[in-house]
Amino acid sequence: MSKRAASSNHAMTPSKIRRLETEAPSLMSKQLTIVVGVGDDEKTFYIHQNIVKDHSDFFAAALNKGWKEAEDGIVRLPTEVLAHFELFARFVYFGKIYAAKAKADSEDDEAHATRVGVEAHVLFDCWIMGDRLMAVSFKDAVHDAITQLIRDERLIPVDFQNSVYPKTAGPNSLRRLLVDVAVWGWAKDILPACEMDASWMEFFRDVAVRGQEANKAQHTMTAPFMKHGCVYHEHVAAGKPCYTGLFP
Ligand SMILES: [Zn+2]
Repeated sequence: MSKRAASSNHAMTPSKIRRLETEAPSLMSKQLTIVVGVGDDEKTFYIHQNIVKDHSDFFAAALNKGWKEAEDGIVRLPTEVLAHFELFARFVYFGKIYAAKAKADSEDDEAHATRVGVEAHVLFDCWIMGDRLMAVSFKDAVHDAITQLIRDERLIPVDFQNSVYPKTAGPNSLRRLLVDVAVWGWAKDILPACEMDASWMEFFRDVAVRGQEANKAQHTMTAPFMKHGCVYHEHVAAGKPCYTGLFP
């Protein structure tokens, strides 16, 4: 390869300001009107149809020819939480999850636990919303934000299976993360102290299976949530590109 060709290829890597014009997203498509919440909490978002379709199979289906939503250009989501949908709307344009809380200079251990806990609840709820919206890229990005929170803030989730298992169908990446955290991250006294509730049976079974796998391979396996990359991403099974390559 000539020097000139090598340099030209290098200029097309994603970190550079110069991009192929064929990769440019269109901003000339119609906007979809998305009404979130009800009553005083109702808010309206306007998102380009081609962009929201790229990120959500739910919206792609709603915009199919023949559907009322496609004719009206309006989709109503009365049961979604405004703040969570706003994170999705920002994500589809900017590729980031804006959910972290600012740390106060005087933050003590209790304030730290509260700040991290609030963000964790928002992120878990957002992943579950992303599941309803069939938004693989958003789910994978939120998943990365959760694992980043675990690594940066030493968060050990202990009770999210209460909401994740009943509200999602398995197997999925968020369930897998909770199970991995229980196997690799929980202190010895947490599991025996868990109340035996019928809704937990599936979680306990998954933990037992994963525990056996980890036991057999313990000399080679480190906690999967401490690794970076597509370990938990659902785009792989969905045959879609990783969200990390969709944004600058
Ligand atoms: Zn990925």
